[in-house]
Amino acid sequence: MATNHKTRMLIIGSGPAGLSAAIYGARAGMEPIVVQGLQPGGQLTITTDVENYPGFREVIQGPWLMQEMQAQAEHVGTRMMWDTITDVDLSGPTFVATGDGGDTYEGDTLVICTGAQAKWLGVPGEQELSGKGVSACATCDGFFYRGKKVVVIGGGNTAVEEALYLTNHSDNVTLIHRRDSLRCEKILQDRLEANPKVSVLWNKKVDQFLAGDNGELRALALTDTVTGDASEFEADGAFVAIGHAPATELFKGKLAMDDTGYLLVTPGTPKTDVAGVFAAGDVCDHTYRQAITAAGMGCQAALDAERYLAEKEFAGVTETVQG
Ligand code: FAD
Ligand code: NAP
Repeated sequence: MATNHKTRMLIIGSGPAGLSAAIYGARAGMEPIVVQGLQPGGQLTITTDVENYPGFREVIQGPWLMQEMQAQAEHVGTRMMWDTITDVDLSGPTFVATGDGGDTYEGDTLVICTGAQAKWLGVPGEQELSGKGVSACATCDGFFYRGKKVVVIGGGNTAVEEALYLTNHSDNVTLIHRRDSLRCEKILQDRLEANPKVSVLWNKKVDQFLAGDNGELRALALTDTVTGDASEFEADGAFVAIGHAPATELFKGKLAMDDTGYLLVTPGTPKTDVAGVFAAGDVCDHTYRQAITAAGMGCQAALDAERYLAEKEFAGVTETVQG
């Protein structure tokens, strides 16, 4: 039988944003519920080494970090729910989310932390070599390719920024693009062209990522999109940068979002255009997309959710006294 679960703070998503919101919300006495979704722990559970999350001198493992975050959230009183939200009603005064088994989750406030997924090429070798030479995040993994030969696939702002970022670690960066012109901003293209560490392979489509004898990336199999010629390009690291897809399908028509689907918040805050509904992490951030920034936004969302309820409750008390 379907159950209705009530809370003062409902959180959708169990990545760094959702679990950080939960830690702060639980410690503020809001007894949060976190609905975990299909990827409990979020994107960091599909990576290995994490070296840029503060507090750990040694390299830590993504799945371990997320287990610890969840344990901390539960320790301070968070209820974790194994469910995936399929519908939301944001008309208020409470916010209701429906899980795929029919259970409903009713929050006096709602924090949306559903994240964003990197788009992949979907070619052979890509998933098999993920973490073994193939990545979708230069900021996260570029450091592991110091002094090595790397490629970036894509022709938009993200690809060009990733290629430029990688020149901090490598003198041999190649941008591989399927057409003969970029779609990035002109200033980025100017910087790319001025950087002697980057070259561009135009009109090349990646057909396959090829492993070496050590089981790590050795080369990319390419086809020229104009001539049809096939070739191989050797590389130690390949960064797929063809865009991200925020998980916001549920909120279409219910919350303001930009034309690429990211939730819009009041700049510098987690406030969406519906009072009492907050967003945190990659779902509203196409710029930074890091665990630490997501965690920071989760904290902000919990603090603002607590303030929102306090103000609402105070207004209720004042009305009663005046009435
Ligand atoms: P996510 O981690 O994306 O979590 C989203 C959550 O929402 C998931 O739990 C999912 O199950 C849930 N969800 C989605 N839809 C629903 C739904 N309908 N109902 C219920 N739940 C739902 N960052 C770093 O700082 N350092 C790194 O080294 C690093 N390495 C990375 C390596 C890889 C391979 C990847 C992919 C990313 C890496 N990142 C790294 C980026 C980092 O993982 C993200 O920035 C961060 O996880 C974003 O956190 P988030 O909480 O916003 O969302
Ligand atoms: P994007 O602008 O959509 O560009 C994606 C790139 O990947 C395009 O060049 C596209 O090629 C290529 N591509 C897509 N699918 C591919 C496939 N299957 N195989 C090979 N190539 C493929 O994505 P983005 O660069 O991530 O940017 C997304 C949004 O965020 C944009 O609005 C962007 O302006 C914004 N953004 C802004 C900044 C900034 O302001 N500094 C930084 C990052 C992102 P085609 O060109 O041939 O279509």
